[in-house]
Amino acid sequence: MSLTDGFGRKIDYLRLSVTDHCDFRCIYCMDEKPTFLPRSEVLTLEELEQIGRAFVELGVRKIRLTGGEPLVKSDLVKLVDKLAKLPGLDDLCMTTNGSRLTKFAQPLADAGLQRLNISLDTLQPERFTATTRTGKLERVLAGIDAARDAGFQRLKLNAVAIKGNNDDEIVDLVRFAREKQVDITFIEEMPLGILADNRRDHSLLTSDEVRARIAPHFDLIATTENSGGPARYYKMSDSPIRIGFISPHSHNFCGDCNRVRVTTTGELLLCLGNENSVDLRKAVREHPNDIEHLKQVIRDAMGAKPEKHHFSTGAETQILRFMSHTGG
Ligand code: SAM
Ligand code: SF4
Repeated sequence: MSLTDGFGRKIDYLRLSVTDHCDFRCIYCMDEKPTFLPRSEVLTLEELEQIGRAFVELGVRKIRLTGGEPLVKSDLVKLVDKLAKLPGLDDLCMTTNGSRLTKFAQPLADAGLQRLNISLDTLQPERFTATTRTGKLERVLAGIDAARDAGFQRLKLNAVAIKGNNDDEIVDLVRFAREKQVDITFIEEMPLGILADNRRDHSLLTSDEVRARIAPHFDLIATTENSGGPARYYKMSDSPIRIGFISPHSHNFCGDCNRVRVTTTGELLLCLGNENSVDLRKAVREHPNDIEHLKQVIRDAMGAKPEKHHFSTGAETQILRFMSHTGG
């Protein structure tokens, strides 16, 4: 059983957004006073599990839990425990801001979560609080250490590189990743959601520019390694870690796209950069416990996956959805 879209791409990776809520308000992701969705619109834990199960029965091999901040969702560890037991799921991972990992890293690992991505844009405490608007760097650093101790298969840091915000810390972040022996990926900022300060078009830092800043300090060796995602990876001769670059602007990675997303409200998004979607919440709520119906709705949706995304830094072509709704 496998899912294939209209361009012959096999879909075996699901990003599942478990909440739109978050304890941070990162400047590139949310407004300072965001509006959150009414509870009744958000998928319950049972609905999330059912959707995950349907995708795995359809051949999905990798699920990433994301949000919002997954760790503000109550009983998330229970969901991890249920998903981890699905036969056929090879890879269960999560993206988190790290603020609650001192409490949850070990229970998550024990429940069967295999890998964690932890967002970290800066190593300067004041800048961290300014970027996240509410976060404390020391809590996230303690969370990273807790995750290292918990025994995950692999840890990765994610940094959104933004001109005028953290572009002077690129090399420091690589040094930190080397010291902690964790991978690191630099992400180009994507124009998702219109921010009140509307500053995106001045601040784009391309992956090529980020790489050029690292190159004088470390020998970057390009690899053909593919983690089933859009990142392109580099190694260094004197460290086991990998440095990844996700470049939605400067390199179109749609040709081998193997993923779909389900938002907090159960919209199946076939592409991060397009607005088309299919309502899985309706399918789940109108046909409770009918997994075959849900699977058919998912199968039928595959024909609507667009060939490629179209991002631009111009405000007029921005996608209206925020990353916290779609799941990063
Ligand atoms: N709250 C968790 C976190 O921050 O890791 C998970 C959700 S967050 C939306 C997932 C990833 O998306 C984070 O690494 C975040 O930095 C990134 N992100 C958010 N808004 C973005 C944007 N406009 N462009 C690029 N990356 C973005
Ligand atoms: Fe929250 Fe993650 Fe968005 Fe930051 S990037 S506001 S931590 S959802």
